Amino acid sequence: MSGTFVGMPAFPPPVYPAFPVAAHEAVNNQTLRGNLRHATHTIRAKRAKAVAELSDWAALREAGKQIKDHTLRHLDRYLLQLEESVTAAGGIVHWAADADEANRIVTQLVQETGESEVVKVKSMATQEIGLNEALEAAGIRAYETDLAELIVQLGKDRPSHILVPAIHRNRGEIREIFVREMSEWGRPAPEGLTDSPAELAEAARLHLREKFLRAKVGISGANFMVADTGTLVVVESEGNGRMCLTLPETLISVVGIEKIVPTWQDLEVFLQTLPRSSTAERMNPYTSTWTGTTDGDGPRTFHLVLLDNGRTDTLADEVGRQALRCIRCSACLNVCPVYERAGGHAYGSVYPGPIGAILSPQLRGTASEIDASLPYASSLCGACYEVCPVAIDIPEVLVHLRERVVEGGPVTREGNKVVLQPAKGHAAERAAMRAARWTFTHPGALRTGQRLASRTRRFHPRTLPGPGKAWSGTRDLPAVPAEPFRDWWQRTNGGKDEAK
Ligand code: SF4
Repeated sequence: MSGTFVGMPAFPPPVYPAFPVAAHEAVNNQTLRGNLRHATHTIRAKRAKAVAELSDWAALREAGKQIKDHTLRHLDRYLLQLEESVTAAGGIVHWAADADEANRIVTQLVQETGESEVVKVKSMATQEIGLNEALEAAGIRAYETDLAELIVQLGKDRPSHILVPAIHRNRGEIREIFVREMSEWGRPAPEGLTDSPAELAEAARLHLREKFLRAKVGISGANFMVADTGTLVVVESEGNGRMCLTLPETLISVVGIEKIVPTWQDLEVFLQTLPRSSTAERMNPYTSTWTGTTDGDGPRTFHLVLLDNGRTDTLADEVGRQALRCIRCSACLNVCPVYERAGGHAYGSVYPGPIGAILSPQLRGTASEIDASLPYASSLCGACYEVCPVAIDIPEVLVHLRERVVEGGPVTREGNKVVLQPAKGHAAERAAMRAARWTFTHPGALRTGQRLASRTRRFHPRTLPGPGKAWSGTRDLPAVPAEPFRDWWQRTNGGKDEAK
């Protein structure tokens, strides 16, 4: 076994640098930028083609949005219905308010089986809470079985993309990781392994097969949970998920409470929009569904851990709650010019890219440097909104969160409570906003200021002093007109002051 697996941390995370600092490092890494550019441009073009095939794409998108909004409005009711349905089907439901509670529950459930190894289906929720690290601390080894997650785990790395966690690695790097690390975790890489995709996939298949056949406990997330039947759904491309969901005796699924849909029929929308938006496929290769337990078929015991971890706080925010519609397709990452250059690690979270920039500061609060900087990790170009299959207006939420950072001071969570901290930082920006608000609500002062600015225009500096220097160093400051617009209007319109 290798030493320590450095996976994603639990929330709240260790101290990550602010986004601009982390991104600065990434943009100077030419290999990383090359890998990202190639991968995002390829997926982006394929997605556009797959979506264009559907004449009712706009209607599907609107339907997805409506279903999610309706469910979130009645989340309390649907969660209780889900608990009832899962229990009736033979499953056991656990409620976790935060990451620590979820980790405690899962660790205890694994310990009760007497096992010290688990196999995992790719799951963002378990990465969000740092489950692998919590299990490791309890002497339980978690094996990632998704190919990209395996690469990340063997490389003691962090995921950098929702769908393709090892997008920042090229084939040569993956080969090196397999050759160097596989033997430490189980079956070694085959002799003479090259970087051909087929050989790399076969090496991973052989390495994972022994884990699937040995595992008694499987851990998963879920893409959807159906309230009226208690069914969970995992959508995937490789088949590793199907193995983890069917071979072990005990299955534990950790799922965010927002992943619920009311009825089975609602899936017809998302099973069309998700694969086209994520892998650009008309239909994903494996869609696994399970409802509680079935005698003689699949796991004997099924536990569902319903995870809050900041979601209820997010739901309370009228603008920000739309982030909970996200179906984790990653289309927004693939079109984002900032993500393409900065890569996923700069976002300091398992949720990178545009969705990460609005989700992490809401789930974790904006007290840390990284979370206060994430709402600014965008040019607000709107490409993310255009491609989002559930129409999340990411730019709108970004601006809303910027306002929260600047005006309201950081929001933190203490237990289940949202706490508004006294504002600190961005003092100059806050003062400027207050001054602007006062000026615009006092027209007399605005008029005097405009006249004064016009009369003194010859003395205005070409660059700004202090913190504004960097901004004006690469831009021309707009010239102040010789006569304010209001005066010109009054002079040329017979003395009527329309702007009064
Ligand atoms: S925000 Fe929209 S585009 Fe981005 S991952 Fe979520 S569903 Fe996909």
